[in-house]
Amino acid sequence: MTLMFNGIGVSRGVAVGEAHVLHRYQVDVTARKLTKKQVPAECRRLRRAIKDAKAQLLNTRDNIPKDAPSDISSFIETHILMLDDSVLNDTPIDIIKSEQCNAEAALQQQREALAKVFGTMEDHYLATRIDDINHVIDMVLRELSDTNENLIGENWKGQIVIADDLTPADTIDMQNHGVAGFVTETGGQLSHTAILARSLGIPAIVGVHNIRQYVVPGETLTLDGRNGLVLAEPTEAMLNDVKKRQKAARLKQRELNKLIDTETETLDGIKLQLNANIEIEEDIKAVKRVNADGVGLYRTEFLYLNRNSLPTEQEHYKVYAKVIRALKGSMLTLRTADLGSDKEISARAMTTPRSPLAHNPAMGLRGIRLCLNDTQLFIPQLRAIFRASTKGPIRILLPMLTNTAEVHQTLTLINAVKEDLRKEGIDFDENIPVGGMIEVPAAAIAANHFASMLDFLSIGTNDLIQYTLAIDRIDDQVNYLYDPLHPAVLQLIKLTIDAGIKAKIPVSLCGEMAGDPRYVRLLLGLGLTDFSMPPNSLLEAKRCLLESKRSRIRKHAMALLETTDAHDQLVLLDRINGN
Ligand code: PEP
Ligand code: MG
Repeated sequence: MTLMFNGIGVSRGVAVGEAHVLHRYQVDVTARKLTKKQVPAECRRLRRAIKDAKAQLLNTRDNIPKDAPSDISSFIETHILMLDDSVLNDTPIDIIKSEQCNAEAALQQQREALAKVFGTMEDHYLATRIDDINHVIDMVLRELSDTNENLIGENWKGQIVIADDLTPADTIDMQNHGVAGFVTETGGQLSHTAILARSLGIPAIVGVHNIRQYVVPGETLTLDGRNGLVLAEPTEAMLNDVKKRQKAARLKQRELNKLIDTETETLDGIKLQLNANIEIEEDIKAVKRVNADGVGLYRTEFLYLNRNSLPTEQEHYKVYAKVIRALKGSMLTLRTADLGSDKEISARAMTTPRSPLAHNPAMGLRGIRLCLNDTQLFIPQLRAIFRASTKGPIRILLPMLTNTAEVHQTLTLINAVKEDLRKEGIDFDENIPVGGMIEVPAAAIAANHFASMLDFLSIGTNDLIQYTLAIDRIDDQVNYLYDPLHPAVLQLIKLTIDAGIKAKIPVSLCGEMAGDPRYVRLLLGLGLTDFSMPPNSLLEAKRCLLESKRSRIRKHAMALLETTDAHDQLVLLDRINGN
């Protein structure tokens, strides 16, 4: 029987694949077939997990308080003995070898065999010993789950991953392992996981509550990332329909590819900049493929994720130099680390200890606040940026500005870094423009002040919408309130564009709105001429803009600034998007 699930489509595209259900914080005992070559490593993995579980128990035993009842220590001794027993050592190893399966499945098989034996025992006391066996097996499984990330990753190829939630770091791993798509039970369309999925071209849906209770691992799924629809065990007719849509998407892409070399100019002769957003070095390929004018947002924080130490100055330098060289003279807008909130850095990597859990991380120590708070994290990045600046044109973009003191402080730090480099005789570009993200309502309202201190501004609508409408961008429960057409949001965008025009500095917009075909013309009508978006969105946005006349759109865009009624908003948006 086909089951249908609805969620929030966050990354367009249709995918078909087997379900790979992830149960984090629960031990996954799904059987996986190994190749002959993988078997010895898997046996070692199990032995190591048993050893680690035993070490844990020995540690517990050694730390039992002297006055504790004696049966506690004998209880632990029993578990230690069990871990040494061939029933939990040799037999599961034999199963791994004979069935070429993973350690978890072998342990599970042995657990079921033992449960049968104990279940037939007449002695009640002996029968309940199965509880101890379960406890010990669970301990080993937990140890295994700490080391099984790669093993799971290898099996992701061509599959649709179903998870409770995924981090941006997981998304990068998924792309490396060739997943066909993913579905999560929580998350919003502006989460960095969703942004990365769009940027990496992985079809994705978030906010499908409890889907893991219904999907059977290995069953066929179809995923429609545009409409937020998942089908489990689709019929033949449904599969054919998906294939038809995949074909139509390929044809549409072929048409869009014809625009790759076209200059972006509106029908009334306004020249536009279409830049790309990138997250990782490999994204440059996509930037080249669509022939973006440059990179309007390089989210460098991804360099800090998936690791337990901070990147060194040299690591930063190597990556930046490579990206700049690959861009062959096109501008790279390098945003300094916007860490914190949903791009949380590993606690082990931090140089200054942080309080374990901020109650409201999106409003906590993130972006420029964190960098100014921990300059050991910030200075190596700044030094590397300046050193790499001899390789090609770059701009520095500061995230999450709230007040002009942050700009002052950062500019002072930048000057100190430049002075040190001069003293060390290291070459760098003396005139790198420094700009700021306008993504906090306070900064948008005070955009004039920021414009007078900075060389350019870039509007981050993802955060601007989050903070203006008070909706957590990763919480699917308030996703219904996500409204880029809200007059408060549009007015803040307009204020920032006007502040830039008045100060004669460039203003770009690099939030997801810039690449959304529903909104690009509206932004043009509000006066925007510099767009930065995921490379995959660029050609479609270009087509919309090439077919636009700003003089026609302007009055409808101005009317939208004053409209709160949802129906009226859509009527105006239709007028803007009509040809
Ligand atoms: C934004 O907030 O719009 C933005 C571009 O930054 P990020 O999505 O990385 O927070
Ligand atoms: Mg932001």
